[in-house]
Amino acid sequence: MQKTPFPTIDNELDLSTEWSAEHSARLYGVRDWGSDYFDVSEDGNAVVSVQFGEKTIQVPIIDIVNGMRERGLDMPAVLRIENLLDQRITQLNEAFSRAIEEADYKNHYRGVFPIKVNQQCHVIEEIADYGSRYHHGLEAGSKAELIIALSQLRDHDSLIVCNGYKDEEFIELGLYARQMGIKCFFVLETAMELDIILERSRALGIDPLIGVRIRLASMVEGHWNEDSGDRSIFGLSTSALLGVVDKLKQANMLHCLQLLHSHLGSQIPNIRNIRTGVMEACRFYAGLIEEGAPMGYIDMGGGLAVDYEGARSNSTHSMNYGLDEYCYNIVEALQESLDPLDIPHPVIISESGRALVAYSSMLLFNVLEVREHKAEPLPAEAPEDSHDHIINLFSVLDYVSPENLQECYNDSLYYRDEMRELFHHGQATIRERALAENLALAILEKISNLLPQARRVSQELEALPELLSDIYYGNFSLFQSLPDIWAIDQLFPIMPIHRLNEAPVRDAVLADMTCDCDGKIDNFISPTGVKKTLPLHELKDGEEYYLSVFLVGAYQETLGDLHNLFGDTNVVSVHINEEGGFDFRREFHGDSIADVLSYVEYDPKHMLEQFRRIAEEAVRDGRISVPMRQKMLHAFKESMHGYTFFER
Ligand SMILES: *Cc1c(COP(=O)(O)O)cnc(C)c1O
Repeated sequence: MQKTPFPTIDNELDLSTEWSAEHSARLYGVRDWGSDYFDVSEDGNAVVSVQFGEKTIQVPIIDIVNGMRERGLDMPAVLRIENLLDQRITQLNEAFSRAIEEADYKNHYRGVFPIKVNQQCHVIEEIADYGSRYHHGLEAGSKAELIIALSQLRDHDSLIVCNGYKDEEFIELGLYARQMGIKCFFVLETAMELDIILERSRALGIDPLIGVRIRLASMVEGHWNEDSGDRSIFGLSTSALLGVVDKLKQANMLHCLQLLHSHLGSQIPNIRNIRTGVMEACRFYAGLIEEGAPMGYIDMGGGLAVDYEGARSNSTHSMNYGLDEYCYNIVEALQESLDPLDIPHPVIISESGRALVAYSSMLLFNVLEVREHKAEPLPAEAPEDSHDHIINLFSVLDYVSPENLQECYNDSLYYRDEMRELFHHGQATIRERALAENLALAILEKISNLLPQARRVSQELEALPELLSDIYYGNFSLFQSLPDIWAIDQLFPIMPIHRLNEAPVRDAVLADMTCDCDGKIDNFISPTGVKKTLPLHELKDGEEYYLSVFLVGAYQETLGDLHNLFGDTNVVSVHINEEGGFDFRREFHGDSIADVLSYVEYDPKHMLEQFRRIAEEAVRDGRISVPMRQKMLHAFKESMHGYTFFER
């Protein structure tokens, strides 16, 4: 739908001036969700901002995209900015250090990154590298993840925390790590695991480090609230916890119990829930010390949120606190609870995943096509001998004003439908019907544009902008690259990465390459709350239009599936340097068609052989020539090795 004259942003912005990059920055809220890592440059490009001491370097994302294309890395692609991962690790560790120092807390912080949040080898390698100066460790929820952790750990002051169900093999691996001097904790999720741990450690003669995951009664807001509360499927109930303590006592192993673990859930938007959770965990911590366990570590799990909306509120996709506040609240709550009991301060562990990696990745894609929904140019007045309904539609079009939107809406649909009825009965021509439909559309557009000025808007009218919006077809698969949008209505900030000094005059929803009606994005963040449409620019002939979905570094990559056999996208890891240039540190070519076919058990060689046989039969029957056969076989082979997405 064509917007007039500019998209509405907020009242502060002077819309009478010419559109500038500043307008775009406000419209897409980049400074709210971008957390100083993203911005819009004066010449209209989305930029990544990287800090080098006092110096800020800004790199236009479009420059990196051009570099990618030159290297044969087509859209869609995941772009990772290594510096941002580095910066997040630094900020998290430094924020805890500051809080600890200011509160005079008598122990330190040790972060562990939960591998499940992004298992990609180069992400884990980068976290291990950048994290080593803070002894940032890893959290493993399965045998495979423990194997990753053991192979990536850089120093013996970092921790490995093992959650999840553990079998004998898992436990033996962890015990060997213990023997080598690695601080590898087994966190008990169920009482049953303890028997295997005791049996194996006795057999191998190695003392394990044991933690207990408790089930907090504190409930949290947000989407992942089921990790806490009485019905949580994770953690030990209070009586199961006592069973564990008693069994450890009997086995003379209580000295191994050193860690208390709790995880309230991911993306906790409200700081009060975090504080309440820490207080409750402290009661358990104190109780275990009373029982005679040495303790020494308290693990607050994940939950540190990302403000996807940039709203700084306690809504699901936002957060009402900052990083510093998070750290202060945890440190203070620990002191408040433990100091009166004269309990020494434990090492603070957090398993922050989302907050560490979300910022560093973005999904880039080009727009392939637009299906516009707009009225064609109309004659200035009704043609001679027009039907009454058409004359009426013309006067409704003139008459629309903010005071009579509903009335005009009703009338436009009424006259349009009457004309369709006449057409059915052979009393109107195809041209008359087209004119009526076009007039009605023009009226609806006008109504939609006047909605912001109306005093009261019915539900019917509220739905108009979405109904009239364009569909922009993007070169990506929602199911492969943004599974949380489909699965849990996750909101991610989306914005064009160039042309931001031009007014985005279209209102659109996004559709992906799958022919699935769920493969669309129709919820967008905006400075005035969640909107059904996204303001975008008109496509220009012969010029690509690029969009980016930001903050997709957490949970999106391995949850993705092969819907319609669109495979993994290309991935590029870029490191920005102090001079404002950037190095392509790593590049991974996404799945080829042969790759995805073999995932679902096809044999590409056999398929080629079958195709060859069909072609040979066609040669035999004289339907194609031999050179033609060669050409076809070549095309078949080329496609097999090509990208699963749209290639230009
Ligand atoms: C998923 C998970 C995390 C990560 O949570 P974030 O909110 O992404 O930081 C941490 N710990 C456990 C036990 C988890 O299951």
